Formats: sequence, structure tokens, C-alpha cells
Amino acid sequence: MGTGQLGGSGAVGGQALGNTYKLTVPPQQEAQKTSVKKDGVANEARRKRFALLASAARIWPESAIKKCFRFVTPGTSYVDILYSPVEDRARITNLIRCNTGACPVCGPYNRLQKGLAWSSILSDKPNKLALLTLTVEHHKNERFTAVLARLLEANKRMWSGRWWNGFKAEFFIEGRLTSLEVTDGDNGFHPHLHIILVSDARWPDSDVAIAWAIIAKRWQRMVAKAGGFASIENGADFRAADAGSIEYLTKDAGESLGGWGLVEEATLGDYKKGRRGGRSILQLLGDYTFKQDHNAGRRWYEIERGLKGRSRLRSSNGLWEALGGPEHIQAQESEFLDITESDVLLLSISQTDWLQIWDKKIVAQVYEIAAKNDAQALMNFLLANGITFSLPPYPKY
Ligand SMILES: [Zn+2]
Repeated sequence: MGTGQLGGSGAVGGQALGNTYKLTVPPQQEAQKTSVKKDGVANEARRKRFALLASAARIWPESAIKKCFRFVTPGTSYVDILYSPVEDRARITNLIRCNTGACPVCGPYNRLQKGLAWSSILSDKPNKLALLTLTVEHHKNERFTAVLARLLEANKRMWSGRWWNGFKAEFFIEGRLTSLEVTDGDNGFHPHLHIILVSDARWPDSDVAIAWAIIAKRWQRMVAKAGGFASIENGADFRAADAGSIEYLTKDAGESLGGWGLVEEATLGDYKKGRRGGRSILQLLGDYTFKQDHNAGRRWYEIERGLKGRSRLRSSNGLWEALGGPEHIQAQESEFLDITESDVLLLSISQTDWLQIWDKKIVAQVYEIAAKNDAQALMNFLLANGITFSLPPYPKY
């Protein structure tokens, strides 16, 4: 074997490119997973998540969220409740996942998966990342879509033309990873962009300062062209970053998940503490759901309607491939639904029965009881709630 140098993109410092990509759970999350399991934090988080899903479907009944986890996938007729000994948790399969960004279950999960994949790729680029935050001025009574349009128009103009080509060449920029986030505060809707600029060279402090000055000026001009205002002091923030910054980009997702695979028991801190700069999108939905804050529900709806069809974490063309990312990142995203050989089928129930479980608001409890791998207890629980069920027609797994 040679020197083991992979990729050969001419990276400064002989950094091998990440051809050994693997989606792994960061160690601290593993530790958290086992320590809080007993506290019931996971169960609490799951109850909240399904409550959020129910209220999102109530606020926006014509969206795909309405079907999520509620209806069986085409071609199947039973909802299977399984126990996974490998993960020591319940799995409920054959259900539709809406995979929309607005869904309080699918959205954060998918964003986090994507974020972890990027994080893994970018950890091979220490000192070559910079984190840029772009904002535009907005006012209390503005519509969300009006502020969003200004922000995105300015952003589109920002990264184009001669200026962009010059900037790329000067700072060896390979591409951008952009996260679109929204908070809601005293001055109204605050959509903003966190952008990771990936360079093929290091970002010395002096360069960061120079680049910041150039970017802040350019951003102010582009926002003006888009009909808005951004101050030189506050419009753009720019600093050296590392792969951990990706976690910052997907922080909301991680905090709100609290129950799926990778961050199984991450806390739901997002709902408990106030955040600088107002409430996050999920916090709005949480306040509607748990504090009967109807205005928060309306704000959530206005934001999610405005974001419909937009990718919230996207990269510039070719960046993933240029960094040696694997071809099929999509396949990773539904990993947690795959059935493994060791899974134990506890019960199959009909679509009608499953909808009754939703109506009685006991979806989370079904997960909790199934996680004990006790089919009899599960049947008793359903019977006690007036739900009949059919036994599996034949051994499936
Ligand atoms: Zn969903």
C-alpha cells in the first residue's frame, strides 16, 4: 500500500478525504442514551412528539402531516407493533411517514440525519470552515413570506456574478452549506441563514476578519437590492468554525427529537427554556399544544406555510461529491423503520383500530408498553381502552 492518501483534492496539510464515511452516534449521545433511559425522559419526549404531531395535523389538516403515522402504507393492511431487542425499544411499522419539513416528527429527524452526515464529512476539514449568519431587518407586523422573500432574494444575489467568482478564488471556497432557520420574537418573524463556507485552505484569523468585512458590505448591498435593509454591524456575522458547527445548524432538530434512534433521549430543552431571539418554530407549536397559546399556533402555521417545499438544509451544487460523500445518503434517512431479523412481532392491528388509538391519544403509551416486550400486557392495555385487535394472520418475520 502507498501512503494511504485518499481523495487527492490537493487539500492543504495532506488531509485525507472522507471516503470512510459512516453515520455514527457521537459518544456523548450514546452516554446520554443509557443514562436518561430510566428517567422516563424518552417516554415523556415521545408523548410530547405525538401530541405535537396531532396538533400540527389539527392546525393544518390539508397537509400531508395529517396522514403521518396515522395511515398504513399502500399495499399493507395491518399496523405491526414490534419489539426490537437490539435497540430495546418498540417499533411500529407499515405506517405512512409524511417526510415534510413541517412535520414535528419527520422534519427534525430528517434534518438531523442530514446534519450528522454533513458533520461526518466536514470533520475532515478542520480549520477550513467558516460560519456565516445572514439576517435582514424586519418589523413586528410583517407577513412571514414578505421577510422571507427579501432574505432569499438577497441571498440569491449574494452568491453570484463576478463578485462571487472573485471571492471564491481569493479564499479557496469549495462550496456552501446553508441552513434556513426561523425564530419569532418581539420584532416579528425572523428568518435567517446560517451558512458554512467550506474552503480548501485554512482560515487564518486575519483572513476571517478580511472576509467578514467584504461579506458584510456585499450583504448590505444585496439586501438593499432586494428591497430591504441590513446593517453593517448586525446584518452578517462571520467566524471560523469546525464540524461541530453543523450540530449548531441542526440544534433545533436535535433538541426537539428526544425519541428517535440517534438522539433517542436528547432532552426537549427547546420547549422549556426561552431562546435568544425569540421562539423557534417547534417552540411555537409546543406553546400552542401545551399552553393553549392560539396565537403561537397561528404563527407556526404562517411560517410552515411559507416554508412549504423549501429545503431547510441545502448545499451548493457538487459540494457533497467534491468532499467524497457517499452516493446514497437518502437511504440512511429511513433506516430507523427497517425491520431487522431479531425484531419480535407483538401484535398486528387493523387500520381502524390504529385510528382509534390515535383518537384516544394513547399512541405514545402503546410504544411504551411494547418496549417492554410483553404482548399480553399490550393486549390488556388495548382491551382496557376498548380497542379490539386481530392476531397476526400468519407468522411474518
Ligand atoms: Zn411526518
